[in-house]
Amino acid sequence: AEVPAKRRRVLLKLSGEVFGAGKLGVDPDTIRGIAQQIASTVDRVEVAIVVGGGNFFRGAELSASGMDRSRADYMGMLGTVMNCLALQDFLEQAGVDTRVQSAITMGQVAEAYIPRRAIRHLEKSRVVIFGAGAGLPYFSTDTVAAQRALEVHADVVLMAKNGVDGVYTADPKKDPTAIKLDTLSYDEAMARDIRVMDQTAFSLCRDNNVSMLVFGMEGEGNVARAILGEELGTMVTP
Ligand code: UDP
Repeated sequence: AEVPAKRRRVLLKLSGEVFGAGKLGVDPDTIRGIAQQIASTVDRVEVAIVVGGGNFFRGAELSASGMDRSRADYMGMLGTVMNCLALQDFLEQAGVDTRVQSAITMGQVAEAYIPRRAIRHLEKSRVVIFGAGAGLPYFSTDTVAAQRALEVHADVVLMAKNGVDGVYTADPKKDPTAIKLDTLSYDEAMARDIRVMDQTAFSLCRDNNVSMLVFGMEGEGNVARAILGEELGTMVTP
């Protein structure tokens, strides 16, 4: 029997900012647009998604205003689940089968995080949306994106950013001479102390040999382009 070609599998990280279009809560038109882009790729690529929650709560910010850090982080994680449900809804409206898996059990709205089951969903062309981060305070969803990518054996991590289209030699908002890099290594990125990405995510990917594309949400069809492996943004390599 013919062995089917192995399909590309990606782990896409969408931050909370993407969902809220810069505001508190979710922006349905923005999410619909992203869902339609993802839908246009699922016949060719297996797509897993880690969703951030900064459009609702960030634990570090709440704790700076006096809340207990861990409790604030749990609020942050619960925020990511709302984004998952919004994305799931628009993906299903676009005709895509989806499953949400949450790292905090909440059976009414999401499956539990079961890695082997997630892989099975991907093999069946379902988009798997991971919510509630790692289920652990003091982590970020960028770190979780790297971890989930490793655990489901994704070929690449796709980090969608708002307001910046890749990794620069310096902060482009502060330094007008900053130049965008097409590629760089994790070691270079970590030596330069590049703020666009979480260092823990970088080191997890470096140590386990997975590349990471950092790309901007601004630009027609960028999410689909990143999923399909077109050239954009900055590719960070081991
Ligand atoms: N969070 C957490 N553990 C995790 C993932 C997230 O405690 O494994 C909390 C943390 O408080 C964080 C918030 O959830 O500030 C929202 O996630 P994040 O800030 O990573 O979202 P993004 O910046 O991508 O919108």
